[in-house]
Amino acid sequence: MSYAPPDPFGWIDDEAGRRAAAGLVRSLRPRPAEPDLLDLASNDYLGLTRHPEVTAAAAEAALRWGAGATGSRLVTGSTTLHAELEDALAAFCGFEAALVFSSGYAANLAALTALGAPGGLIVSDAGNHASIVDGCRLSRAATAVVPHADPDAVRKALDGHTGRALAVTDSVFSVDGDAAPLAGLAAACRESGAVLLVDDAHGLGVLGEGGRGALAAAGLAGAPDTVATLTLSKSLGSQGGAVLGPARVITHLVNTARTFIFDTGLAPAAAGAALGALRLLRREPERAGRAREAAAALYGGLTAAGLTAVRPDAAVVSVRAPSAEDAVRWAADCRTAGVAVGCFRPPSVPDGVSRLRLTARADLTDRQITVAVSTLVSAAPPRA
Ligand code: PMP
Repeated sequence: MSYAPPDPFGWIDDEAGRRAAAGLVRSLRPRPAEPDLLDLASNDYLGLTRHPEVTAAAAEAALRWGAGATGSRLVTGSTTLHAELEDALAAFCGFEAALVFSSGYAANLAALTALGAPGGLIVSDAGNHASIVDGCRLSRAATAVVPHADPDAVRKALDGHTGRALAVTDSVFSVDGDAAPLAGLAAACRESGAVLLVDDAHGLGVLGEGGRGALAAAGLAGAPDTVATLTLSKSLGSQGGAVLGPARVITHLVNTARTFIFDTGLAPAAAGAALGALRLLRREPERAGRAREAAAALYGGLTAAGLTAVRPDAAVVSVRAPSAEDAVRWAADCRTAGVAVGCFRPPSVPDGVSRLRLTARADLTDRQITVAVSTLVSAAPPRA
């Protein structure tokens, strides 16, 4: 009898079977180069990722500096383009200094690990993005997860702690599109001398005057005890991330943040595209308001038709589904009807509530908004 060794990946098949039985299988679907659907699924809030000026800036940067950064930022990966982008981001958002990373994920890991430490305390909103959750874990600081959008809970968690302390929140929560109570959080932090770290991935380009972000909108940009993280991959239509804050914080990150030191620098094309997008946003500040108006119009149309949605604070509109199966079917029906929407279900949604996630874009026409609403209402009939 021949010996059959145990299958080392058998457990993967077991897990996949359970996932399939629960209707939670995820799969990749390449999108066509030319959009063939009305896109309410991407995070291209300002419609810049295909803007000729932004793509030309990306191409120009690649031709001048090369396709890749060639090394980590402290070795060969820094160019004058990176410095120019850092200055432009800091100036646009109203902070003293900025540091760019190859992703917003890496920027969050950097900020949390460089500012948190064993013996320190991080107070984190229960709805925070996965990159913040991972950053808290990597920092090895004690982490208190507090109820969503609750400055009093933050105040209580910080109370009595001596030593380094930090409260961290998304500015706009990525799945439901609701905004964090930044003024209340800043006040809670100041009472105990804690730093406020805000991930403005979904606020940049949409909130604040001309899209300067949630911190500018809350009067907190450039505050000496406030740090922001950003992604370049949403409103700016590019790829990459950044940390913004007091110059000494940024210098500390350059010297200690592992996702800065050991990661290859941001690709020149991505830096060029982000710079191009910032130039455009300065010239066309009305794009921010248009994205917010499009979100409000989507929300108004959907709720008037009886669907349950969260009132949008920025460009994300979240529509509740009664089950993961309904959410998947609704999204598939929308797709068949020519509208792409995001579908969020467990485990991406820790509260277990499945949703469709719609993103408004500054370049949506009134007609497209009407079509989107009627498509959704047909796909997701309101319950009696
Ligand atoms: N923070 C938030 C709130 C996000 O939604 C995202 C992207 N989904 C990130 C951070 C990560 O940014 P990036 O995609 O640039 O890594």
